[in-house]
Amino acid sequence: MPEGDTIHYAANRIRPVLEGHVPDALETPHPRFARDRWPERLAGQAVRSVDAIGKHLFLRFEGGLTIHSHLRMSGSWRVFERADVVPPTHRSPRSAWLRIRRGESDVLQFNGPLLELMTDSRTRLDRRIAGLGPDILAPELDTSKVLRRLREDDPTRPIGDALLDQRIVAGIGTLWRAEGCFAAAIDPWRLTGEVSDEEVLAILGETRPRMQASAVDGKQDRFKVIFGKAGRPCPRCHAEGAVSLIRVRGQGDDNRRTFWCPTCQR
Ligand SMILES: [Zn+2]
Repeated sequence: MPEGDTIHYAANRIRPVLEGHVPDALETPHPRFARDRWPERLAGQAVRSVDAIGKHLFLRFEGGLTIHSHLRMSGSWRVFERADVVPPTHRSPRSAWLRIRRGESDVLQFNGPLLELMTDSRTRLDRRIAGLGPDILAPELDTSKVLRRLREDDPTRPIGDALLDQRIVAGIGTLWRAEGCFAAAIDPWRLTGEVSDEEVLAILGETRPRMQASAVDGKQDRFKVIFGKAGRPCPRCHAEGAVSLIRVRGQGDDNRRTFWCPTCQR
C-alpha cells in the first residue's frame, strides 16, 4: 500500500543516491513521456533535495525544476544497486516511467497516475500540494493544526473518513486508518463531532510511531493486525477469551474499505 511511510521510505533510499549529485543518466523509457524532453531539460543539474510530504515525493533540481510524483494505488519507486539481483518477477527498467542512474545505483519509478516535471513556483501554488495538512511523518507533527483542520470540517463525517482527508493530515491511507483506529480502540464510524481531541490524538499517537518504523525499513506488512482480515477473529477480543469477527465496509465518498472490530472499538 503506497501510504506516507512508503513514500518516506522511498525518499530515504533515494536521498543518499541523488541528493547533492548530478545524475549520470536520466531517462523516461515509457512512451507517455516521449515528447517531454526531461533528459534535456534536466541535463547536468544536481538534485538539490529529495522530499516526501504526505504521499507526495519531490526530486528538486538545482535549475528550479522539480519532479513531483504521487503513486496512488498502482505506482512504485525502486532503488537497485548494480550488484543486486533484480527479482525475475520484477518489471524491466525499460517499462519504468523514470530511470535515474548514478554510480552503481538505479532509481526507478513505475506506473502512476502522477509523475510530472514542474517549476518550483508551481509546487508552491499547486492546490493539491499547498492545501496539504501536516505530514504525520514530519519531524515535529503539528497536532494543533490537525485538530483545527478537523474541527473546521464536517462534524457529521465518520472519523475514519476524515483521517483519509489529506487536507486534515497528510500521509494516512486505508491501511493506517484501519490500524490506527484499531490500536486506539476507536470505532472508525463514529462521527467526528463525537470524537474528542484526546481520542484523535490517541489515533495519531498509535499511528505515527508505526509509520515511522515502516519508513525506516519499508516493512509495512508487520503492522497489519486487522487490515485485509475481514471475517477473522479480532486478536484483541480473542486474547480476552471472546469471539468477535473483523468487519469490512466501504467508507466515505470514495467508498474505500475500512476494517474494524465492532466489539472492542468504541
Ligand atoms: Zn475486538
